[in-house]
Amino acid sequence: MPNQFRFDNRFLREFPALLHEQQQAPLEQPQLVIANQALLHELQLPVTAEQLPSTFGGNRQMPGSQPLAQKYAGHQFGHYNPYLGDGRGLLLGEWVTDQQRVDIHLKGAGPTPYSRGADGRAVLRSCIREFLGSEALYHLGIPTTRALSVVAGATVVQREQPEPGAMLARVARTHIRFGHFEHCYHRGLSNELTGLMNYVIETQWPDLAEQPETEFFERVVQSTAAMVAGWQAYGFNHGVMNTDNMSIVGETFDFGPFQFMDTYNPKLICNHSDHTGRYAFDQQPSIALWNLNCLALALSPLIESDALVAALKRFEGYLHRDYWALMAKRFGLTEVGTEDRQLMSEYLDILARQQRDFTLSMRALAEAPEQGVAELIDSDNSGELANWWQRYHSRWQADVLSAKQKQTQMLAANPRYILRNYLAQEAIVAAEQGDLSVLEDLYKTLQQPFTYQAERDRFAKVPPAWASELEISCSS
Ligand code: AMP
Ligand code: MG
Ligand code: MG
Repeated sequence: MPNQFRFDNRFLREFPALLHEQQQAPLEQPQLVIANQALLHELQLPVTAEQLPSTFGGNRQMPGSQPLAQKYAGHQFGHYNPYLGDGRGLLLGEWVTDQQRVDIHLKGAGPTPYSRGADGRAVLRSCIREFLGSEALYHLGIPTTRALSVVAGATVVQREQPEPGAMLARVARTHIRFGHFEHCYHRGLSNELTGLMNYVIETQWPDLAEQPETEFFERVVQSTAAMVAGWQAYGFNHGVMNTDNMSIVGETFDFGPFQFMDTYNPKLICNHSDHTGRYAFDQQPSIALWNLNCLALALSPLIESDALVAALKRFEGYLHRDYWALMAKRFGLTEVGTEDRQLMSEYLDILARQQRDFTLSMRALAEAPEQGVAELIDSDNSGELANWWQRYHSRWQADVLSAKQKQTQMLAANPRYILRNYLAQEAIVAAEQGDLSVLEDLYKTLQQPFTYQAERDRFAKVPPAWASELEISCSS
């Protein structure tokens, strides 16, 4: 390990009122389930391969790490809850390398003062889902927290039934959430409120250091828009967009009942306890804006309200810009105008009406010269796909890029493999029985979602019939 790499622990030094120092509660007989070797290599943490299970199973503390639980609050399903905080995850420290500065966090590490009577644990199933979900998003190019490892133990955790306990080691640019600022605002902690903003600026966006505070909020608005644009362009339903699950730097955060959609369904509600569809797929942009409004209120002692309102008004513009830029790439079009957006939307409307697979129907456009679209059109009695294809194809041909350039761009923007719920489930069931090969294979595949992988192409398949019965438990 290069000697300038170290734990900094600035949050611990500067925000004693916003944390509780807390030791990990270890798992019994910790065993490594899966590790992100590339990220481990990149970060060069003080952990040898042999020490992985004990370190990220809570039995060994890394030198320089000073674990703590963070206090925050947040709006859950539209209602303010002041009692939140790290109830089962600990910030092990802020790790600084010559390239980056990241938070290392251990989820499932035992109860804290913010556990509200719950056990402070996480189950293997949910750790595997977060590991795969965050890494899948990362390799699609969507801003997200990352996963370092999953360690399982002999410790049994009671949910709907007894389940194996586990811990997930997570890496984020920062774990500061909208809810941190809300807590400071609603409790009148004005020094902490200012301190947190400066902490985020200095550690995350140092280029804003000499800028007015307004620019900080603008950056949060932009980053949030970019993240949600990625979700909408790739069919990701987060499921629990409470303000305590919103990262201040716009990284996808807190993987619960999330789902990548199979058939294109803008009304998808992946969270089965979301009875009103507050967090449905097509609500995500407006919920993000609602959450930004909560943050704006929390920042109102620091930033003038006119400036906050003006930035909020720009959210939609940022979101549209980023979303259509991604979709234009997916459709192989350059410089898209209103008619082009209409054309792209029509395809999505057809997919929704005909209940077609989103990922494979998009991929078919990219693979079209060989086989894809003909198959789609042949299977459509209504003729609407053939009609759409004709109009699309002439627009595509007229585009400034060469056919080869367009296809290269499309293949690099349309994944063949996504983390389908049923695939995660297969990997989990096998892992719970001690077979880690499905998980390993799936993880490998998701690291190159745009590349055809002959030996693992079964992961490109649409869900089998049994998968429609699948109810992902919201307990975790
Ligand atoms: P989430 O729904 O994952 O965003 O969690 C909401 C709040 O509940 C957070 O403050 C979590 O730390 C806390 N929490 C969730 N599960 C547990 C658990 N098993 N033990 C203690 N706290 C938990
Ligand atoms: Mg949460
Ligand atoms: Mg959670």
